[in-house]
Amino acid sequence: MNRYQRQMLLPTIGDEGQRRIASSTALVVGCGALGSVIADSLVRAGVGRLKIIDRDFVERVNLHRQVLFDESDADEALPKAEAAARKLRRINSEINIESHAADFNPTNARQLAQGCDVLIDGTDNFEARFLLNDLSVSLGMPYVYGGAVGTMGTLLTILPRTLKENSPWEQSGVVSPCLRCVFDEAPPPGAVATCDTVGVLGPLPVMIGAAEAVEAIKVMVGDWANVCRSLRSLDVWANVSREVALAKNLNVDCPCCAKRQFDYLEGDSTTRAVSLCGRHAVQILPQGAAEGESDCAACIDFQTIAKRLEPDTQVTVTPFTLRAQLPFANGVVRLTLFPDGRAIMQGTTDFSQAKTLYSRYVGL
Ligand SMILES: [Zn+2]
Repeated sequence: MNRYQRQMLLPTIGDEGQRRIASSTALVVGCGALGSVIADSLVRAGVGRLKIIDRDFVERVNLHRQVLFDESDADEALPKAEAAARKLRRINSEINIESHAADFNPTNARQLAQGCDVLIDGTDNFEARFLLNDLSVSLGMPYVYGGAVGTMGTLLTILPRTLKENSPWEQSGVVSPCLRCVFDEAPPPGAVATCDTVGVLGPLPVMIGAAEAVEAIKVMVGDWANVCRSLRSLDVWANVSREVALAKNLNVDCPCCAKRQFDYLEGDSTTRAVSLCGRHAVQILPQGAAEGESDCAACIDFQTIAKRLEPDTQVTVTPFTLRAQLPFANGVVRLTLFPDGRAIMQGTTDFSQAKTLYSRYVGL
């Protein structure tokens, strides 16, 4: 416990708080700019078990803000979940780290959340956030929401209405509106600014991710009264911060936390192609790959696919990915294939084009 001594000196943490942190499990969804900082902070703080899930791989364009990664991770195009886990284990070898290079979706969400004490948002899209919100309310688990785009960051911690008698925050008289009390529905893909379309100031997600980690630590030690249940927003360039008190905004008609309809959790999990917003890319998720385990029994054989591709294009194979440039129409689409058969196709937003290329070259 010596390494946590400076943290345990804090009266708000102490010996008991540290023990609670050490016996907690956190799920961080998304391991880009926000997720890097959240995971780094929690591993240093001594969380017992950390689960991370991310569907993407490291590129140089990530490095100005995604602080867990370096140039060698980008050169190897390592899955972010794998690169993060390697770095986090070097930071604190005592932490049980479980990493998933996979898409976070209704098929695997419940299983990932099982046994967790707090859900933390490192994502960049509202579909994943509303899915996290459904998990939070249906399982009665605190959810720390955060976002960072441009020079503007937002933060909110949700201590949901659970309908359970033994919910510790409700026993303390503390509850907060869920994300769907605040935002009615997820905006359609492409309707909101993302880091990829409007940019992001590098230190901003570091600040917001750190604030999310602080909230997660408050949840883990059970200091419900001090959890920030206001919607905070901050423009770090214009020096403007706003705080909207939401305690009175519990929506009695909320489809999620009042009517307990979990539209995102029970949503269409058979979606096979999704546009990666702002990335000019499409993700193809073949049936059976939705669980997203890279050690799956049905793992595809990269060498067979490489042989099929090599007459047409140069192929790079690592234990984690197969990469190739696929000639198509007047340009190329860059394929990154994962062992479970999931693929990210960069250079197109056209689902049918992406699916055609996938079946032609990968052929699952
Ligand atoms: Zn609600």
